[in-house]
Amino acid sequence: MTPHAATGPHNNPCAQCGLPIAKPVWSEPVGCRVHYDWICVACDYEFTTIAIYAERQDVEHAIAA
Ligand SMILES: [Zn+2]
Repeated sequence: MTPHAATGPHNNPCAQCGLPIAKPVWSEPVGCRVHYDWICVACDYEFTTIAIYAERQDVEHAIAA
């Protein structure tokens, strides 16, 4: 496992119209989670998804040790 294993989601379907969005416009690590902000180019809908990466806890433990 590498510390930068989290490449993030992509082609996430728009929550409103279902159009796949190639990549999030913004991502923010929060603890062992990453918040991703998506903006649909078709309907301009903006929404957030949260991904949980268990390995991020290992990374933080490694840094704290
Ligand atoms: Zn949309």
